[in-house]
Amino acid sequence: MHISKRALKIAEEPFFIALNLPPDVVRLTAGEPDFPSAPFVLEAASRAVADHQTHYTAPAGIPPLRQGIARKLKEENNLSYDPSEIIVTPGSSGAVGLALIAMIDPGEEVLLPDPAWFHYATLVELAGGIPRRVKLDAKDGFRIRGSQIEAAASEKSRALILNSPSNPMGRVFSREELEEVAGAAERLSLTVMSDEIYEKIVYPPHTHISIGSLSGMRDRTITVNGFAKGYAMMGWRVGYAAAPIEMSRKLDPLLGYTLVCAGSVSQYAALEAITNPKSKEYAKKMLEAWARRKEIVMRYVYENSRVVSAMPPEGTFYSWIDVSGSGMDGKRAARLALDEAKVGVMPGYLFGDAGRNHVRVSFATSDEAVEEGMKRFCGVLSGASKTAKDAGKLTISD
Ligand code: PMP
Repeated sequence: MHISKRALKIAEEPFFIALNLPPDVVRLTAGEPDFPSAPFVLEAASRAVADHQTHYTAPAGIPPLRQGIARKLKEENNLSYDPSEIIVTPGSSGAVGLALIAMIDPGEEVLLPDPAWFHYATLVELAGGIPRRVKLDAKDGFRIRGSQIEAAASEKSRALILNSPSNPMGRVFSREELEEVAGAAERLSLTVMSDEIYEKIVYPPHTHISIGSLSGMRDRTITVNGFAKGYAMMGWRVGYAAAPIEMSRKLDPLLGYTLVCAGSVSQYAALEAITNPKSKEYAKKMLEAWARRKEIVMRYVYENSRVVSAMPPEGTFYSWIDVSGSGMDGKRAARLALDEAKVGVMPGYLFGDAGRNHVRVSFATSDEAVEEGMKRFCGVLSGASKTAKDAGKLTISD
């Protein structure tokens, strides 16, 4: 069968690594909460089923959900959108993919951080665009700087993808950083797609700020968010994009032609999640678990500083660990951890060239699994690095 060049180019590796692990492996790979969806969300879905809410909805979503999202964005993010400017999508991934189609023409560039969630570069290419990486420097604490954005941009650059709190670095960009980004976006006339899916996973004293709420940014920002991480509603597949009306008016039919609409029952479940005040308690309960597990990860990092180093995550449930002290790069370390210690972590190169010496550890799993996984991971790296040094070989490479 003929397969398009576009499809042939798509890397299968990330999904293979994350999802095809043998059953006896401790998984520090998956980016999804181990919590179930809240009981009141399940009840709302049951009610929707009993009411036969099983038909197509309008492409942009059911009106009360669009209203609920507009209210949430005002109250929590200081963003003013009319419900007509909100497009409900199948997962926030749906919003990212559609927004890219609407933001760029073939051959135009999209700037995105290196490292960044691996879907972005692939989705930019599928939209006909060219991903241009803005390398964030470990020595600079993975800060994002306006000067780096300007240095990476060319006359073909049209858009910038921002993800804070960020996967895989666990950074939460500060107001000063966001102001620098906003300044660069303005000077370069870039549209900013701000993926805020991890906004509810932020560790004090850090706080989440929506770049669209900064002065002058509303009209050049598409804010993307969803229900997967903050409400433990991964499989329901509900996300959204909020954008100025001229953009949302285009996203609406784009969704209609491609994915049609988010699932109807799922939209009623999401409506309950976003309107029920108990969601805040639920998110807080999850955050307490993430914070506890973050400490477990960091304890192992500090105790094994000869082979691994990492900044404490400021947000998300990921730790971005530099393994170069072990003499290995991230790919080799992840392979060794899987083969010899039966622990799965994501090799950093998947997130961009800047991740060559890193692995991403997800602590969205039980305390016991995090403890055991980190023990095995640090143990195998320490052992391998000692063996290599004893043999007088300081670098282990592929
Ligand atoms: N954005 C980022 C940065 C993510 O890490 C993920 C999921 N791993 C998503 C978006 C997608 O989430 P959803 O389930 O809402 O499509």
